[in-house]
Amino acid sequence: MGRGSRLLTRHSVRNRGLSSVRDVNRQRVKIGQLEIDPLTFSEALERIAELVDRRNGGAVFTPNVDHIVKAERHASFRLAYDRADLSLADGMPLIWASRLLGSPLPEKVSGSDLVLPLMHIAAERRWRVYLLGGAPGVAEAAAERLDREVGAQIVGTDSPVVDLDGAPGDPELMLERLRGARPDVVLVALGAPKQELWIERFADRIRPAVAIGVGGSLDFVAGKVKRAPAWMSRAGLEWLFRLVQEPRRMWRRYLVEDPAFIAIVVRSRRRARRTCRSKQTG
Ligand code: UDP
Repeated sequence: MGRGSRLLTRHSVRNRGLSSVRDVNRQRVKIGQLEIDPLTFSEALERIAELVDRRNGGAVFTPNVDHIVKAERHASFRLAYDRADLSLADGMPLIWASRLLGSPLPEKVSGSDLVLPLMHIAAERRWRVYLLGGAPGVAEAAAERLDREVGAQIVGTDSPVVDLDGAPGDPELMLERLRGARPDVVLVALGAPKQELWIERFADRIRPAVAIGVGGSLDFVAGKVKRAPAWMSRAGLEWLFRLVQEPRRMWRRYLVEDPAFIAIVVRSRRRARRTCRSKQTG
């Protein structure tokens, strides 16, 4: 049995039955500890729409360099990724890494780029959308813009204090509000690893809603933070733009933690070559 089929079986067994959402013919690409689906931007949108229309829930993650680095030392983050129905390459460095590994991903599919096109589909199909996360006021401002400019049906917003490491906050109240709004899609903007852990913990309880981890996207939609220009994003320089905009929040991530990505890719390349050699000899 190929790796794609094994993954499919594991996910089908895990109560989702998503056989056609995953394309069995195209294997996920592994960078460090995380696996990424080789999908183009429009294929990713189609797959998300399929998940939503199946009405059986689901989890969509958008791994970037920071996620790959965090996954090295964060077991529960890796476990959360194990249940992702879709794992989409957020950023050019992942595309470059996949090429170095000999399994090129077709293109970058950033969460922040997905949100608006996805909300257009939501408006067309009358999906009910819930926005979770962001600083107080951000989700409301994003909802107002999505309603006004896109015609998306935003059925609720919440900016809860979420602490998944065992500290305060009553998730039941937040879940009660969310479930009461009967969303089809929940955009979870809590940053990594919180949003992936949140989705892993609550995905089953918010079904049939599909949960999508969108990082800082609501800040962009609300106009609270400026998005890097497209040329910077294409050149893999989005991080630099964000660092300049929010140096106090971003310096540690981009200057101290994320450079480890290079060593992770080098290790993954060695692993890919070993696997390739053993296939040839065995
Ligand atoms: N956030 C939140 N609750 C938290 C921690 C973060 O709502 O407990 C929000 C934060 O306000 C921001 C987003 O999560 O809107 C994190 O965005 P970040 O830029 O870190 O994510 P990225 O896009 O880099 O994945």
